[in-house]
Amino acid sequence: MSANDVIADDMVVSIHYTLTLDDGNAVDSSRGREPLLYLHGAQNIVPGLEKELAGKKAGESFDVAVSPEEGYGPRMEGMEQKVPKDVMPQDLEIQVGMPLSAHGPDGQTMTVWVTAVEDEHVLIDPNHPLAGKTLNFAIEVMEMRAASAEELEHGHPHGPGGHQH
Ligand code: ZN
Repeated sequence: MSANDVIADDMVVSIHYTLTLDDGNAVDSSRGREPLLYLHGAQNIVPGLEKELAGKKAGESFDVAVSPEEGYGPRMEGMEQKVPKDVMPQDLEIQVGMPLSAHGPDGQTMTVWVTAVEDEHVLIDPNHPLAGKTLNFAIEVMEMRAASAEELEHGHPHGPGGHQH
């Protein structure tokens, strides 16, 4: 890679990020662990952040506020469902905030999130926990390189910090 490289489609990029909500609550950060590795242009990350990263160089730091529309989408109200615990996988300890795979009305696979755990039931919601929220990212671009043909085919990075398979 040369020092003049900028982030563009089909590059594997590593970033450090801290995600803060409008209430000041830091909900996630890569600080203290490996940077996040993603394949630019493959929707590995939310669209508003990917758009802002395009054209940036290694070593650059910036802040960006991503609207819900360019983040995890608007929140859909009234979508919560109560599910008996005994239909849940028995080997799983269900916890609030946990994502689960479920079958939608047409048999398609969808992700739902656990919002409450009761004695006999679990409440699930198809809204991502960050749906409807503005995402305030503090970003530092660490490294970038061209993706391999295999990574492009899979749509995600391989190796340390990426998919291992
Ligand atoms: Zn892969």
